[in-house]
Amino acid sequence: MIPFSPPHIDQRHIDAVVEVLKSGWITTGLKTKSFEKKLALYAGNPNTLCVNSATAGLELMLHWFGVKAGDEVIVPTYTYCATANVVVHCGATPVFVDVDENFCISVEGIRNAITEKTKAIIPVDFAGFPCDYDAINALVHEPHFNHMFLPTSENQEKLDRILVLSDGAHSIGAHYKGKRTGNLTDATAFSFHAVKNLTTAEGGAIALNLPEPFKNEEVYQLLCIKSLHGQNKDALSKLKLGAWKYDIIEPGYKCNMTDITAALGLVELDRYETETLPRRKEIFKIYDSILKNYPWAQLPLYETAERTSSYHLYPLRVRGITEAKRDEMITKVSEHEVTVNVHFIPVPMMSYYKSRGYDIKNYPVTYDNYSREISLPVYYDLKDEQARLVAETVAKSY
Ligand SMILES: *Cc1c(COP(=O)(O)O)cnc(C)c1O
Repeated sequence: MIPFSPPHIDQRHIDAVVEVLKSGWITTGLKTKSFEKKLALYAGNPNTLCVNSATAGLELMLHWFGVKAGDEVIVPTYTYCATANVVVHCGATPVFVDVDENFCISVEGIRNAITEKTKAIIPVDFAGFPCDYDAINALVHEPHFNHMFLPTSENQEKLDRILVLSDGAHSIGAHYKGKRTGNLTDATAFSFHAVKNLTTAEGGAIALNLPEPFKNEEVYQLLCIKSLHGQNKDALSKLKLGAWKYDIIEPGYKCNMTDITAALGLVELDRYETETLPRRKEIFKIYDSILKNYPWAQLPLYETAERTSSYHLYPLRVRGITEAKRDEMITKVSEHEVTVNVHFIPVPMMSYYKSRGYDIKNYPVTYDNYSREISLPVYYDLKDEQARLVAETVAKSY
């Protein structure tokens, strides 16, 4: 059977974890700090905080910005539920915006959705392809929207505009106009979940890239405390002789990363540019080379002059097909022992969001993308001949 995205674990990963297990320190410590520094160096942003998921990272940032009941946060319909759930956790209202035909949140849609209550936008780099950040960043700086923005927290006053918080769960290593994700908006959440490009089993990070007058190092220190119960001293600093006293300065969250998972992350980051990304790209090219011969196959956009994907997902679309026929195609593919997937069932189609009154009919491009989409397997250990078999099996099932 060809699975969808198993992790690649070799002796380097095993050795790194064993080293931490034997070291006498297994929770947040030097490995986590080292992983944070290397992530920031890689993406080119000033400071990065590791947490236990991208979801926790997004929620931490919304909380830091003071997003609360009565506020609105703009999110795309075409994403995993995490992007919207964190908004609900804050008591705020997710305002869904349709995507364009390349799965990116529509910039015109954002423009029409902004109100006096809008506090943040969470664009999603779907499949690893960065959104149009110049357009999104320009939008939040437009004088008209600046006047509309009503700050209700210290950090909102300081930023004095809508926060752009990227959901980069798919897009670590992707480029937009020569810069990597993490260095494109105010803050970016990366995911290191088991199915993502760079994995720590579970994990995530917040790449901070806040403008003046914010000091990213200070915000980083604050978020460390916020991710650990609001405790002003972490376990490692408390370990020092005589340093037992601590204080709780706010009722914080508990979402710190452990050194065991950070050790995995360090190995993964080390091989990311040399092994992970080149192999994923090769698999994309194999899929292109076979599927481009079929007029019904709509190939994904993942490289342009200004943007390159992190090759996270290969979202094939089938022209002129219905949702039911697409589902039948997937059943046929599965009968040949090939695992494919659909990314994503749009959030407004989920029971909870339907019960809150959201309706997929209001997001026609999202529904069209979803109903015709099949994600093909992409992972480091997928062999060339297996990738060819996947593409040919999908073609046969059509
Ligand atoms: C995986 C994913 C998340 C959540 O990541 P976790 O690390 O599991 O919290 C958020 N957004 C998108 C688009 C994702 O695919």
